[in-house]
Amino acid sequence: MKLLIVGGVAGGASAAARSRRLSEDADIVLFERGPDVSFANCGLPYYVGGEIIERNKLLITTPERLRTRFKLDVRTRSSVEAIDRSAKKVRVRDLTSGREYEETYDKLIFAPGAAPLRPPIAGIDLPGIFTLRNLQDVDRIKERVDHGIKQAVVVGAGFIGLELVENFVKRGIATTVIELQDQVLPPFDKEMTTPILETLVAKGVTVLLGQSAESFEQTPDGIGVRLKSGERLVAQLVILGVGVRPENKLAVDAGLEVGPRGGIRVNEFLQTSDPNIYAVGDAIEVKDFVSGDPIQVPLAGPANRQGRIAADNIFGRSVKYRGTQGTAIVGVFDRTAAITGASEKVLRRANRPYRKVYVHPTNHAGYYPGAEQMTLKILFHPETGKLLGAQAVGGAGVDKRIDVLAVAIQAGMTVFDLEEMELAYSPQYGSAKDPINMAGFVASGTLRGEHLQVDVETVLAAPADRRPFVLDVRTSQEFSAGNIPGAMNISVDDLRSRLDELPRDREIAVYCQVGQRGYVATRILRQKGFSASNIGGGYKTYKLFHPTPESLSSR
Ligand code: FAD
Repeated sequence: MKLLIVGGVAGGASAAARSRRLSEDADIVLFERGPDVSFANCGLPYYVGGEIIERNKLLITTPERLRTRFKLDVRTRSSVEAIDRSAKKVRVRDLTSGREYEETYDKLIFAPGAAPLRPPIAGIDLPGIFTLRNLQDVDRIKERVDHGIKQAVVVGAGFIGLELVENFVKRGIATTVIELQDQVLPPFDKEMTTPILETLVAKGVTVLLGQSAESFEQTPDGIGVRLKSGERLVAQLVILGVGVRPENKLAVDAGLEVGPRGGIRVNEFLQTSDPNIYAVGDAIEVKDFVSGDPIQVPLAGPANRQGRIAADNIFGRSVKYRGTQGTAIVGVFDRTAAITGASEKVLRRANRPYRKVYVHPTNHAGYYPGAEQMTLKILFHPETGKLLGAQAVGGAGVDKRIDVLAVAIQAGMTVFDLEEMELAYSPQYGSAKDPINMAGFVASGTLRGEHLQVDVETVLAAPADRRPFVLDVRTSQEFSAGNIPGAMNISVDDLRSRLDELPRDREIAVYCQVGQRGYVATRILRQKGFSASNIGGGYKTYKLFHPTPESLSSR
């Protein structure tokens, strides 16, 4: 068996090492266009910021190590230029010598990744405007930063963009981030990104939402960035973090099928439309684990797993790729945001039925020092309760909750299963009712009809004549510190004695701070004959949708 692998980083290197473990006899050649294999793309922003100090820590392995330990024929600075599928051979250019040669194959694995987008904006090729994909990119960016620049502009508030923003700020650079959408972290539902936006603003980052860079020009002070609004910024460093495009040219030229957004089409065994060619990683179109629809998800975990699966299938095992959930996490200063499965906006766009709940528990027992509040949003099927997606934002403990929920989604679990989950507890790590259990209790209660909930957006969007009577059951101090406009305040402890102040001919939407006292109040009211529901997640959820203007001085 002669196996050629195109691309030597996440997917390609995983496929190569796995192939060798499965076959000591195969000829395995790994082609990588760049000088490095298997480097840590995900660590690059932290090298700029100085969190990772030694550059060679970013090299997970070296060509020499792959040669000695795995007996791989690793050819760096070698670009595969064309594939002749009928003759089963590729044309390779040695980028050091310029020599071109051919190499035959029995099987081929494509792992060429995805290239950062460079939109056709005037001036985009000016020096000082960078994308970030590999060590050469990071060297150029770090050189500028080390030079002591004053201002940076990051175009795109996605994962990589925000990681760079944080690291630029840590290096003392005044940073502006420009985002076309009206929120940061576009894969998330907008309200879940409010704490991230607030943190960016609190750290002095200028966040320009609903904006785009229209042109770049050289000025004496650096690069002038002209925005759609007409505003002009100046920076000595501009980063484009506006997404990636599958590196599919080879595949397209070879006549392999690609999807509408350019991802190479593969079957569940990761075979392309040519059964001798497999493809993995950022270059492929995968099945969305929740919806079954084709999607492209550029993440390291899926790329690594796919590399392994392609090797398994080539070397006689029959392994199916289950699909990608899009489980992702990002740290932005002291906040963490994480997501798995479908977001609400994706479900809404696809017209799929769903329900949602928000809970705002602490990461561990509130009585133990250092408890931090998080917001957990789960989306589930309105009849079966099957989990469809989850998002979490907060500090400590966000990572473990999203991982539990990712596993639950993959296992096809329902919100009723979340109620039953037995998770590790000691006061410094969790609570006897873990945030996952809490989300399960609330969601299951709504499905069983025990806990009538209404979404805050639904209440506020109702026309005046049909708008529910809004009742705040927190203390008067909490109420005066901020409330939903038009609400009446009766604390839950006084409710039983003040029922005659409430309307019996109108829906009552009750809320408290996070939803718990509201639930108790709703139970009291319903048993007393009122038509009442609890605003899911309480005032805290309302504030995600309606942040205080002072907390968001971004434009
Ligand atoms: P790549 O890792 O991009 O490797 C493809 C390689 O193929 C490239 O080195 C390229 O030079 C080579 N190649 C392409 N064409 C040819 C050719 N014709 N001949 C020879 N070689 C070729 N994901 C996460 O899950 N979590 C994170 O925190 C995270 N952070 C990231 C931070 C940054 C700055 C970046 C850039 C990415 C990050 N990612 C993260 C994404 C993750 O790195 C990718 O999803 C993953 O590397 C994809 O693996 P891949 O093998 O498909 O492609």
